[in-house]
Amino acid sequence: MSSPLAAFERAHLRVIERNWLSANQIIFYDSEHAGSVVDTGYIKHQDMTVALVREALAGRHLTRILNTHLHSDHCGGNALLIRSFGAELLLPSASFDAAKHWTPLEAEFASVAQRCERFTPTAKLNPGTVISLGARDWEIHAAPGHDPNSIILFEPIERILISADALWENGFGIIFPEIDGQSGFTEQQSILDRIEELAPRIVIPGHGKIFTDVNAALERARTRLTALRAEPIKHARHSLKALIQFLMLELESTTRDSLALHVQDAKLFHNMCALMQMPQLQAVNWAIDSLVAGGHLTERDGRIALA
Ligand SMILES: [Zn+2]
Repeated sequence: MSSPLAAFERAHLRVIERNWLSANQIIFYDSEHAGSVVDTGYIKHQDMTVALVREALAGRHLTRILNTHLHSDHCGGNALLIRSFGAELLLPSASFDAAKHWTPLEAEFASVAQRCERFTPTAKLNPGTVISLGARDWEIHAAPGHDPNSIILFEPIERILISADALWENGFGIIFPEIDGQSGFTEQQSILDRIEELAPRIVIPGHGKIFTDVNAALERARTRLTALRAEPIKHARHSLKALIQFLMLELESTTRDSLALHVQDAKLFHNMCALMQMPQLQAVNWAIDSLVAGGHLTERDGRIALA
């Protein structure tokens, strides 16, 4: 199937669809000689990211890297891209200081047992302002919910939305604040309402393919959010499974004991298990059992692996 991005739009941007471990990249053709990229994938795939970005730039120089939010699957290629191209790094204003000092950000990655190489930001993306990308003006909107500091980008003439993890074709990302003792469901509700007001024609999500049936996606997202709000324990269970599946994409093959050890000191794993009212080892084994039963993982000769 051909992309919903018409030839005209393809002259301004290109989407590199990745997977669940690495978020999608959006390449902007700012001029004949210069380009920008939004989001850079997970560190495990950084060499592939640099190669894909280089190919998509078609001889242009990468001058700017932007992140919608600082989750390891969206900013894991920052350091290598900066080394490779010497690009500027623009971050959501709410995350700028944490990234600059690094220690708070390092603690966030540790809290989910994920890794990321240090990078240094050079400028802020301020919600309520506009940034020129691919010779178009893109509005920067704050998008708390999945991540309190996330932004999304909207181009109001062609009505294209870069939705990060606030809206996927089927759902949205884990509402992290809710497993960290803070409010997130209410903010997620508001960002879905905000997206409906913006009325995008095309959505480029953080993961998965570009989609155009935005109303159907919003309806699925709202149904899911209502269900999670009604039973936060379901959100904790879903989050634990999703984070273990993410770790398995990185580890590929391991044992139950090593996996349990890997997440032993991770703060958000403690929190999710507490919300599930289960001891951590039992909760982790429950999540592995469900992922094996669901066909996402296999278990053979004492090892668990990606299916
Ligand atoms: Zn995310």
